[in-house]
Amino acid sequence: MLMFCPTCANILGVEEGLNCLRFACNTCPYVYNISHRMGTRSYPKLKEVDDVLGGAAAWDNVDSTEERCPKCHHPRAYFMQIQTRSADEPMTTFYKCCNHECGHRWRE
Ligand SMILES: [Zn+2]
Ligand SMILES: [Zn+2]
Repeated sequence: MLMFCPTCANILGVEEGLNCLRFACNTCPYVYNISHRMGTRSYPKLKEVDDVLGGAAAWDNVDSTEERCPKCHHPRAYFMQIQTRSADEPMTTFYKCCNHECGHRWRE
């Protein structure tokens, strides 16, 4: 593919940059990085509640606390604290309604 320099309209050549390929103009300092092989950190997305907790069975034998269910207004909920992202972020608290007919789950 041919790329033209946006500043001087010459055809750009392809050269190997420090960590990437890039288009570079021969007549002016313009460069355009094509691909980054390094230097971009990707963070895992916050997983779905069930993913993190390993499904409904994970809620057996967990403690309950005074937390009102936003759905049925039951006064107690089971809770778990999970580190969902990187270690330097605070724990996320997950709740599950103690009313078994409701079973609503939410997170802090
Ligand atoms: Zn140029
Ligand atoms: Zn509920």
